[in-house]
Amino acid sequence: MNDSPVFQTNLTDNIAGTINVARKGNLLLRLIRASQPITRSEIAARLSIDKSTVTENVKPLIARRILREETLETDSSKGQGRKARVLSFTDAHDYFIGVNLGVRRSQIGATNLSGEILLEDDFETPPDAKETLAIARETIKKIIAENAERTLRVIGVSVPGLTDAERRKLLFAPNLGWRDVDIVKALQPSDAVNVVVENDATAAAMYEARMKIRHSNDGLMSNFILVRSGTGIGVGLVIGSEVYRGTGLGRGIAGEFGHMTIVAGGKPCVCGNRGCWEKYASAASAASLYMGDRPSRGESAPRFVEIVGKAENGEIRARKTLEKIGDYLGIGIANVIMGIGIPRVIISGRLVYGWKFIEAPLKEAIEKSIVGKLEGWSVEAGEPEGAAIGGALEVAVEEYLAHGLNF
Ligand SMILES: [Zn+2]
Repeated sequence: MNDSPVFQTNLTDNIAGTINVARKGNLLLRLIRASQPITRSEIAARLSIDKSTVTENVKPLIARRILREETLETDSSKGQGRKARVLSFTDAHDYFIGVNLGVRRSQIGATNLSGEILLEDDFETPPDAKETLAIARETIKKIIAENAERTLRVIGVSVPGLTDAERRKLLFAPNLGWRDVDIVKALQPSDAVNVVVENDATAAAMYEARMKIRHSNDGLMSNFILVRSGTGIGVGLVIGSEVYRGTGLGRGIAGEFGHMTIVAGGKPCVCGNRGCWEKYASAASAASLYMGDRPSRGESAPRFVEIVGKAENGEIRARKTLEKIGDYLGIGIANVIMGIGIPRVIISGRLVYGWKFIEAPLKEAIEKSIVGKLEGWSVEAGEPEGAAIGGALEVAVEEYLAHGLNF
């Protein structure tokens, strides 16, 4: 490190180093859930703890039948037939509901700790919050009736906007025009069921972290920035393996970068300001970029996936549109990296469908910024879909693993 330029400080490890031992219990459950079935040795290696510590932690959970341990034959394809003791969650009788309130469509799903999806349903989001929540409430009732032999533990709700500090209310969702909606009051079926409301980009970050943990051999996705670009732009922050929501009165506000001004006096935004990032770099903004903000002359604005299709067919106008999106996205991402000090970025949402056209101009824009002088920054594509309902379910299960098990 001594011969490195002044900017090459190790942003990631400083924060990761603050993870304390008490929180490793939670990380352990998260790792088992993401990578089940998994051996005790692999857990120990990936969390950098002793195997005896793993055993100490999992024993009571096996006794309570939350976890189970069984012998699995490994490497049988190579004819070696090695046996290993592996841990996984029992799929016993606890389950969780996720509700993603989207700008265009909403999804409802149910899952258990072993990751089995019990149900998935979706509906077009009515413009009125009360009407939307009434549909969600009815679906929740139906799920509860159909799973009478199981226990519903937590309902996770993801929303495209700001939540209050207690994660009970949606304070403001600019793209829906909803303000001050008491989600818990509308959806809680009984006092025994906890309802948690989370910003959708934060929820997507939780989902993306689990997906990446599953497919990686080391690391726990300790620090990254998730940029979710669809109808708007949301940013989720994972710092020290936990999502960051802000502190004090600002709790629930961290990550609202979609409305940072990127063009002075630019296009008017639903939030009341002008020139917001999401007017230039969201998947939805591609349509107006493609149309060139001219009167349409009977030409209807294409959807994002249609623009990607045109670009794939070699249409220059569509390619230029996606390159412009990449440029604006890169400018904003460089600002976010500078502000937060985390150099790893994952892109999620339907923008990912156009990744092959967006990636190069996006990275060029970052290289031009001061972040480009840092070593080790990265921007990668995450999941184009699945993070909406997946994120809401993640919110519910994470809440239970962190607070509901009563150690
Ligand atoms: Zn705005």
